[in-house]
Amino acid sequence: MISKAIKNYLANIQPSGLHPKAVLFDMDGVLYDSMRFHARAWYETATQRGLLSTPEDFYMFEGRTGASTINELYLRTFNRESSVDEQEEIYQQKAALFTQYNDGIPMEGAAEVLEKVKTWKLDRVLVTGSGQKSLIDKLETDYPGSFSRDKMITGYDVKYGKPHPEPYLMGLEKAGVKHTEAIVIENAPLGVEAGVAAGIFTIAVNTGPLPDQVLTNAGANLIYPDMKSLATDWDRLMTIIKNR
Ligand code: MG
Repeated sequence: MISKAIKNYLANIQPSGLHPKAVLFDMDGVLYDSMRFHARAWYETATQRGLLSTPEDFYMFEGRTGASTINELYLRTFNRESSVDEQEEIYQQKAALFTQYNDGIPMEGAAEVLEKVKTWKLDRVLVTGSGQKSLIDKLETDYPGSFSRDKMITGYDVKYGKPHPEPYLMGLEKAGVKHTEAIVIENAPLGVEAGVAAGIFTIAVNTGPLPDQVLTNAGANLIYPDMKSLATDWDRLMTIIKNR
């Protein structure tokens, strides 16, 4: 399965080969088991404002900027885009609820993946659409020595956000590598789309409630059920890539 995935990627993108030097990590749903709290905070905020949504919508929207999510709900409910004031007010309300609900527990298996990545001497870059300082500030405590401040792309740095390739292209630039010298680890359909659009070999970990098919449709090169199984398989994956 891994060999086939690499072959498919190279056939589409870059016949000269895949030579990973850096791994670009999404944060929510990859490093933190925080998506259920985001979904709950979004759903409650939207419902209170009379905006039409289901809890599942927010797993599908994951990776978008807050403003883009709010716009989508306004278009759906009121057939118009939201104003900047509405965006700021609603995002603040959602962010406050998220901070209240979030338990900040790291994703099971993520520390093991990071250790493997370090063992293989691959650089690490954080590429998140999130602007939640509470989690970004916790990274050094939960994953010491894994991410340096100058190698983080957050919701504050981007103009478009996922599914646009922009955040991952910025991540490549931070790492100083080409698209064939990186691997993306993502959990969200729009995040996978962004990684694929940036031309990067993209591994999906399906840590949420959506079916695998959604991640396949988004273009994921490989899918793992969780970070634990990715950690277990990492040496094999890298060995196959190196020996090609
Ligand atoms: Mg995510």
